[in-house]
Amino acid sequence: MNTPTPRSLTLIGAGLAGSLLAILLSRQGWKITVYERRGDPRIADYESGRSINLALAERGRNALRQAGVEDEVMAKAVMMRGRMVHPRDGAPDLQRYGRDDSEVIWSVHRKVLNTTLLQLAEQAGAQIHFHRRLHTVDFDAGYARFIDDRDDQPHDIHFNTPLIGADGAGSALRAAMNRKRPLGERTEFLDHSYKELEIPPAADGSFQIEANALHIWPRGNYMCIALPNDEGTFTVTLFLPNEGEPSFATVRNGAEAQALFQRDFADALPLIPDLRADWDQHPPGLLGTLYLDRWHQCGKAVLIGDAAHAMVPFHGQGMNCAFEDCVVLARCLADNATTEQAFAAFEAERKPNAAAIQQMALDNYLEMRDRVADPAYLLQRELEQE
Ligand code: FAD
Repeated sequence: MNTPTPRSLTLIGAGLAGSLLAILLSRQGWKITVYERRGDPRIADYESGRSINLALAERGRNALRQAGVEDEVMAKAVMMRGRMVHPRDGAPDLQRYGRDDSEVIWSVHRKVLNTTLLQLAEQAGAQIHFHRRLHTVDFDAGYARFIDDRDDQPHDIHFNTPLIGADGAGSALRAAMNRKRPLGERTEFLDHSYKELEIPPAADGSFQIEANALHIWPRGNYMCIALPNDEGTFTVTLFLPNEGEPSFATVRNGAEAQALFQRDFADALPLIPDLRADWDQHPPGLLGTLYLDRWHQCGKAVLIGDAAHAMVPFHGQGMNCAFEDCVVLARCLADNATTEQAFAAFEAERKPNAAAIQQMALDNYLEMRDRVADPAYLLQRELEQE
């Protein structure tokens, strides 16, 4: 016989997926408790002053719409009509995503998005505990150990609710589930990594380059991109191989990075005044794809977002896909009698979709760094659109 669905759930991670899911489930009447490793981003700046942004597409917007938070988020979003491709020589060229402005994507500020969603989650009734990093879980005894990053002290919390892991690519809940019963985990790291830099606004506060575009400097085996932020800045991301020439092995410091930009991204270099300092202060970020055979542990725990299916960022769909997970999991919890059935239905529906998007993200790296600058490919694309 089915046991009645418990009306309380514990979420690990109050990032993008965790905070959106907290809104959706609180509004459905669930009692939601969230534990987040970091401090409250509404008080402390966790991006050390730099703006990090994300491309929001219709998949993600639809999820925000369903949670009733679309207007708040879109108020600070910047429209991107297409790719502005910067060749080595010659003028930049805009390749539209669609025929007109009904087919565009949007650049959103990660911190603005996260704080907006957190605020609305609390207003919807979710209880959020900051400075609580999940360390280990004893599923049999119903205890989870959290560490407070301010004093390294452990806090053991008894739970009698199912756990939802929205704690990102390095998920501690996934590790705990894996220890209890292997999830069939495999991560394939890309042989490229990334560095984030910034283009500040012009002296009068305006954008220094076209605001309504995703800028790309494709250079064959590597590339640079820039997305606009509503305060007039651009977040620049350089994707470079780990080995070979040029690579993170040969471009080892700010001075060498400046020389690389002088040679390969000459029109971008004067726009990035802090390139040397930023390069020296921030280590390169790793990129990988996470594959799991199972996303849930009976009715006791389930993973969503990057914790379940981290992907490389070249299709700009990781967050969008995580937001879709939230909508589907909330629906599965409403439609099924037990959490076990709900988690199984969620996995069955979302796992094939996530796998397809992971593969598209890998494929799109070739397209962005290479094919967007290839005249034969562009002609074919134009013919396909006609
Ligand atoms: P996260 O956003 O990583 O949130 C996880 C949360 O859990 C964080 O708040 C973290 O502090 C917390 N946490 C971690 N460990 C613990 C713990 N042990 N205990 C408690 N809390 C914990 N996606 C797009 O859709 N569009 C883009 O343009 C895009 N660009 C990207 C560019 C780059 C360079 C990268 C690396 C990714 C990009 N992504 C993009 C992907 C996107 O960032 C992720 O898919 C998205 O953040 C996933 O959301 P999440 O909530 O699952 O994980």
